[in-house]
Parts: sequence; structure tokens; C-alpha cells
Amino acid sequence: MPTFQPVRGMRDLLPEDAEALNNVIATTRETAKLYGYREVITPVVEPYELLSAKSGEEIRQRMFTFKDLGDRMVALRPEFTASIARLATTALRNEPKPLRVFSVGSVYRYDEPQRGRYREFWQANFELIGSSMPEADAEVLLLTNSVMKTLGLRNYSFKIGHVGVIRGILSQENVDDTIQNLILQRMDKKEYDEAFKLIEQEKCREVLQGLSALKGATPFETAEKIRQYVAGYAKAEAAANNLIEILQLATAMGCPIGTVDAAFARGLEYYTGMIFEVNVPELDVALGGGGRYDKLIEIFGGEPTPAVGVAHGLDRIVLAMQTQKLRSPIQRKKTAVVIPVKQELRAEALKLAQMLRDAGVSVEFEVMGRKMAKALEDADKRKVDYAVIVGERELKEGTVVVRDLAKREQTTVDIAKLAAKIRD
Ligand code: AMP
Repeated sequence: MPTFQPVRGMRDLLPEDAEALNNVIATTRETAKLYGYREVITPVVEPYELLSAKSGEEIRQRMFTFKDLGDRMVALRPEFTASIARLATTALRNEPKPLRVFSVGSVYRYDEPQRGRYREFWQANFELIGSSMPEADAEVLLLTNSVMKTLGLRNYSFKIGHVGVIRGILSQENVDDTIQNLILQRMDKKEYDEAFKLIEQEKCREVLQGLSALKGATPFETAEKIRQYVAGYAKAEAAANNLIEILQLATAMGCPIGTVDAAFARGLEYYTGMIFEVNVPELDVALGGGGRYDKLIEIFGGEPTPAVGVAHGLDRIVLAMQTQKLRSPIQRKKTAVVIPVKQELRAEALKLAQMLRDAGVSVEFEVMGRKMAKALEDADKRKVDYAVIVGERELKEGTVVVRDLAKREQTTVDIAKLAAKIRD
């Protein structure tokens, strides 16, 4: 038999990588609790129709789609929002608003694999459903800021835009929704010329070109320029005012807004309002992104319900932390290995190991039947903190020998004080 490798774009996360990911997951989960988001767990496999309805051409083409044995067209989720919107129109339909929902798990997209881009990756997802207020938009920015800050990331910044500005102009110029979506998709890929070519009307094309070129010295200045530029386009003007309000709230709370970009668009088709991304200088891919989607729940058969959300790309956050040489804010607990001096002491030693676990200490038991020197050498190699050496004479006195493997020092410790000694 040949040896097997993971499928292209899929990765094994070995213990250190799995730990790094789990630590980031723990931080997002903790943040969710602090902001009042309740966790739900939804299926990895969803109806194709649900996932494709408003995700946009880009994501539709990259979905892992198949027919199950019952002839149902299904797909692996490429993101969480569609699943949460499904819940908001079914099982959670009658929940009081606002509804704050958190999810974390793997998602799947047939992207071209490269650094920070995989076909199976992890997202932590926050949705705030039921509010159209700018403080709701600000909240998803702030909780994203909290996650980044808690993890110790440096120099990250937000890029913000507003789909309502572009759509406002296009709608008033009678460009229909299908063309609008195509234009936004092209803009998302920064193919601006291609995007503008899709606009038949010359005047409208010029307006959009002018809009995308707007730049100010600060994010506020850019936003203000946008606001003045779109005067006369009522919906676009309202969108620009909304953007400024969100910007004010987020900035007042210390959220580092790097840029406001009038030509910023995102691949997902369901966005209707503020959109954003968070980046670090070391990576050329975003660590997270989100925005407002006020029509999706209605499209899925619910009451018209405004909503805003964000997905954090956990693999990329881990990558950014590694690049910035950051350690997880979660303190690693001390570990121990219990080694009986001779086979006859196995049962006593096992009891001792269990006693330590019951006291919350992470304990391995020597199961290879190795001689003491070899067992110690192995534990040291694997960076275990302490070896608990169980010997006959010590046992009789109610003690064991504890060896600090890093310091290469050993002392005799009362069994009653053993757990505390290792923990602290
Ligand atoms: P999106 O749903 O496209 O807004 O993506 C949200 C976040 O997921 C992005 O900001 C990335 O951090 C992450 N992400 C998207 N695609 C990939 C991928 N192929 N591999 C790893 N992370 C990804």
C-alpha cells in the first residue's frame, strides 16, 4: 500500500498547531460570552440551495457540492451566515430580538491553496440579528477588535466600506440587481475596469469611477468626501451618513480604522450596508471580515430583519500570531509523568497518577516499561515539567521523588502536597 497524504488544500493540524488553533477558538468563545452571544452548532452539510442562494458567484463556484445517497443536492458549508439565517427563520424565529449567535467550526471552499488559503479552514462567526442601528455595526467591529487585542496582535487595522453607497448610486441610475452583483464581484477582485465596463450609461460609469478614486488624509476625511460626492443620490447619501456614524462609534471605542474605501466590495452577495475587513501588515490576506445583510432573512422566508455579522479566519489569526511571534494568552498548565521504579509498584503508581488527575493535574503514565533513566530522558525530550518517581522506600514514608525536568533538580515531596507542588 502507498502511504496516504491529505487531499490537496486540506491539512492535518499536529499537536502544536491544534493547540494554537484551540487557544484562538477559546479566545473567540470567551469574547462571545463577554458580548452576550450564545453558541449554536449547525451541520457542516447543508442544502445546496440554502448555501448558494445569496453567497455570490465566486463562492458558488468554489463550493464542495454533491448529491447524497437520497439524491439531495447538498454542499459543505463555505461559511456560517446562511446556516444562521436559516435558524433565524425557523427554530429561532420567535426568539426575542436582538438575537446574538456565535458559531465556530470548519468551512470549505475550493480556493487555490497558498499561504493562509486552504480548502478546509476554521471560522469563528458572530451574528447580531434584529437591529439596524449603527451601534450594532459598531459592536461587531468592537468584538473583532477585542479578539485581536486579547490575542496580543499588533498593528492590525480595519478597512471599512459601505455597499449601500455603490448600490445606492446604481439603483438610482436604474442598473438592475443582477448587474449590480456582477459589478460588486469584479470590484471585490479589484478588477475595476472590468467592473465599470458593465455599466452601460456613461454618466453613471463616470460617477462610480470618481467615487472609487476618492481619498482623504484620514478615514473620516475619506468618509466625508464620499458623503459630499454622492449628494443627490438619496440612498447613497443615507449610506454615507450611516458609515460616518459607525466610524464615529468604533473610533471612539479605540477600534483602529486604517482606511475607508469607497470602492471596497466583498464577494458575498448578501451584504447591504457597512462591510469591513481586518488585516495585519505581515499577511496579504484578511484575518476576518463581515458586514450588514438586511435582506437575507427575508429572502429565506422570515420577517424583514436587519442583521450584521463577522467571520474571523482562525487559521490566518494563528498564522499572524506565529509571524508576530506571539504566545497564546492562555496559560499552559504544568504537566507530569508518573514512573514506578519497578513493575511491582505499578498499581500504587497508577493510583497516584489518578489522584493527581482528580486534582486537575495533567499526568502521563509510563507505559513503555522503560528503565528510569530512559523514561526520564524521554519525558525531558517531550518537555514534560515534572517526573514523579514512585519508589518503595518513599511510598512507605508517604512521599515520592519529584524531579523538575528543566532544572534537573529533585526533591522528596509528601504525597498529600504533591498536586499543589506540581500545579503551583
Ligand atoms: P469571508 O466569509 O469570505 O468574509 O471570509 C471570512 C474570513 O475567513 C476571511 O477574512 C479569512 O480570514 C477567512 N478565509 C476565507 N477564505 C479562506 C481560505 N481559503 N483559507 C483560510 N481562511 C480563509
